Amino acid sequence: MPTLLFRHGRVIDPSQDFDRVADLWVKDGTVVGFAPPPGVAAADRTLDCTGMIVSPGLIDMHVHLREPGREEDETIATGTAAAVAGGVTSVACMPNTEPTLDTRSAAEFVVLQARRAGNCNVFPIGAVTKNREGKELAELGGLVEGGAVAFTDDGAPVYSAEIMRRALEYCKMLGKAVLVHAEILELTQGGVMNEGVVSVHLGLRGMPGVAEDIMIYRDMVLAELTGGRCHILHVSTAGGVDLIRQGIARGIGISGEACPHHFLLTDETLRAFDTNFKMSPPLRTRRDVDAILAGLKDGTLSVLATDHAPHAPEKKEREFDLAPNGILGLETFLPLCVTHLIEPGHLTWPQMLAKMTVNPAAVLGIDRGTLKPGRPADVTVIDPKAKWVIDKTASKSKSRNTPFHGWPVTGRAVATVVGGQVKMNLLG
Ligand SMILES: [Zn+2]
Ligand SMILES: [Zn+2]
Repeated sequence: MPTLLFRHGRVIDPSQDFDRVADLWVKDGTVVGFAPPPGVAAADRTLDCTGMIVSPGLIDMHVHLREPGREEDETIATGTAAAVAGGVTSVACMPNTEPTLDTRSAAEFVVLQARRAGNCNVFPIGAVTKNREGKELAELGGLVEGGAVAFTDDGAPVYSAEIMRRALEYCKMLGKAVLVHAEILELTQGGVMNEGVVSVHLGLRGMPGVAEDIMIYRDMVLAELTGGRCHILHVSTAGGVDLIRQGIARGIGISGEACPHHFLLTDETLRAFDTNFKMSPPLRTRRDVDAILAGLKDGTLSVLATDHAPHAPEKKEREFDLAPNGILGLETFLPLCVTHLIEPGHLTWPQMLAKMTVNPAAVLGIDRGTLKPGRPADVTVIDPKAKWVIDKTASKSKSRNTPFHGWPVTGRAVATVVGGQVKMNLLG
């Protein structure tokens, strides 16, 4: 493979505390560093990154790719194409497929399909329990052999505390984290939005924030008991942020993740009865949004991820009560975070990029999210000043369920390089 030079960009690599204008060299699909490889005078290919930010390839550790079983919503090929368009070089995909990703061969299928698609890296996440039914542990060891990098029953909680305890113990031996969809189902049954003033006004059944908080607390103390590691997916409540902050201070193996919709939107948006604002956990209140922003700022929430959840139009366009939860995320991830975290001054560029690169890599234990010499050359080039308008009709996803259509944004991925191969390039 030839040499590739990212010339004169602002290279920000939080894994090395590096932030300055530099040349970045890549050879044979791996990072060389900030000087050319020995004996090389000129690069085979040069990307002029003047005025751009050069970052380790972005990681989205919370993605629903839907294949196998729901190819009408998304496939591994279309989902990873959307990732590349959004500057994402690695996705971790959730196991709530049909059948469930709960065996070694199921994990191998995902890895194989991702290789066939040839877009970006895909790291499968295995189910904690067989068929995500919460009754019996899945083949966790076999799943790791098949390529699984973590475990979750996302879409649903692991209901039994006893099974969660055993999962944490087993995952500790495997060196993996359990990813937690925190929800006490008795409290959310029949709910379609956050429980609060707005749900009362609208006459819709609500899901109280404590349904999330209680489960976060349970899994946090189970992680403490077992010495295992849990990662709280899509934190949406002020109470949840507080608990994770306490857990980290106590030295518990816990980390937390925020999705753009949970720090951008509140339950007030539900007044339009647009199903693109329906998700689980639901959009909450201004107080929760402010707590999530504070948690991102002080490091309590170390990961940004999207919970990319495609649904074919005929499903999402059903009446509000019946429509499925979730929205697209991969192509709006970076611009929403730049516009609403960097521009208002909540986070600096290195702080934000850490939550999209080295931090999720650490949760998953993968060798990505860094520009250290010798690592796979996954690189995202970002135009930090680009002004544009989100257009769902231009999406590479199979689905169109986004509440952000027509939103003006700042910041855009202009080149996506995976393993040294240029997969997307708007630099010319
Ligand atoms: Zn979930
Ligand atoms: Zn999810």
